[in-house]
Amino acid sequence: MKIDASKLWESVLKELAENISRPNYDTWLRGTIGLSFQGSTLIVGTRSEFVNEWLERRLKPLILKLLAEAAEEPVDVNFKTIPQNQENEDTTLALNPVENTAKSNRKNQPSYKKDENAAKLTLHKNYIFESFVVGSSNRLAFAAAQSTSTNPGREFNPLFLYGGSGLGKTHLLHAIGHAGVKKGLNVVYLSAEQFTNRLIASIQKRSQKNFRNIYRKTDILLVDDIQFIAGKEQTQEEFFHTFNELYEAGKQIVISSDKSPNQIKHLEDRLRSRFEWGMLADLQVPNIETRVAILQEKSKNHQITLDNDILYKIADKCKNNVRELEGSLTRLLAVSRLTGKEINDSLVENTLKHLQTPDLYSPPSIDLIVGVVCDYYKLENADLLSNNREKQYAYPRQMAMYLLREVANISLVEIGKSLGNRDHSTVHHGWRKMDKGQTVDQEIKRDVSNLKELIDRKRRVA
Ligand code: ADP
Ligand code: MG
Repeated sequence: MKIDASKLWESVLKELAENISRPNYDTWLRGTIGLSFQGSTLIVGTRSEFVNEWLERRLKPLILKLLAEAAEEPVDVNFKTIPQNQENEDTTLALNPVENTAKSNRKNQPSYKKDENAAKLTLHKNYIFESFVVGSSNRLAFAAAQSTSTNPGREFNPLFLYGGSGLGKTHLLHAIGHAGVKKGLNVVYLSAEQFTNRLIASIQKRSQKNFRNIYRKTDILLVDDIQFIAGKEQTQEEFFHTFNELYEAGKQIVISSDKSPNQIKHLEDRLRSRFEWGMLADLQVPNIETRVAILQEKSKNHQITLDNDILYKIADKCKNNVRELEGSLTRLLAVSRLTGKEINDSLVENTLKHLQTPDLYSPPSIDLIVGVVCDYYKLENADLLSNNREKQYAYPRQMAMYLLREVANISLVEIGKSLGNRDHSTVHHGWRKMDKGQTVDQEIKRDVSNLKELIDRKRRVA
């Protein structure tokens, strides 16, 4: 092929710039270069595997079309990452001038000015792997966390841990941190909220470069409660670049969240997809045996041994949340110490009275079900109540009808009233459609089962 690779790509880039959005162009295409030809395949150099993947998946057809037009013959394309450590080569300079400035700055000033962005790494001393009780509810998350700390950056990257509040996410993040520190690695732990606050502070103080240096030069970055960045554009943008840089450098990223990536609303797709690239592991509510084992583990810290039936009794009262379970034990011990009473059944009963276990058989409320359905399909309440009959609204609406009847046993008339004043025959129709649909339609079947589980979970938390 006699065409100049670099010129051909440049002309395609010009076309692309007019065909896709500016942010997309900046993120994925800016800085890419036409390197060479292999036969009739154009090799395009990019800055990362992420970029390659995205271009391959999202833009290849358009690129092929534009290439064929520009070259006046079919040209295939292959994306290739240009290693970042070729600092002195022109290609890298052209690829990422900003980054290279940062790098040379790093060389010229080996010690940074003491930085307000830097925070001392504080890890809870008891949050280690050894004190984490493993059961069926958290086995996968535990195993993934351990293996991540043995082989940071290698096996599961990112590791994304998710689950309800008080189920051990922070504990596992800290445990990975401790293990990393032991290995002499540079570990950063922070909540997504701290990440956001420090980013804002650094912008105000114009010290963004320092901010970046801190988060982008760690070996293990542990970010707790990532759901916090939902809806925060600039934080997501900054985190996106931090993520890419660490990932590309083979550094470990561990993230926790109260929801799985696809359940976090107002999260940019590019982040969502990255979070899903590595390992997703969820933490569930532990069963009674695990809860008892946790109580045994925690009583070690208080240097006390309690009878098993007392432990069962406490565990039975705290079903949904390990933090609460731990709190109950502490409270019980405190009451016993203060009043001089021994820990027996009646003390447990009295002390933990406030933990009225919600009656598992009381049905979930209409609001709860409607809320879960809206969350699941990413709809607003008003969409469900509206008269819009497009499938994206009608289907969730009928699903809500079905669940309200099946799970909460609410009358057709009342369901109709709560869902935008609909006739009971409309509700019946919706219910039937979902009821019958489950036997023939995998999507309906899957949705029903997911939603029932979500409702059940929510009800137990409520
Ligand atoms: P989350 O971050 O998921 O809200 P945490 O990690 O803060 O929950 O856990 C809450 C408390 O419960 C912590 O004190 C933690 O040590 C304890 N905990 C949770 N799961 C376990 C477990 N499997 N074994 C021992 N302690 C646990
Ligand atoms: Mg936490």
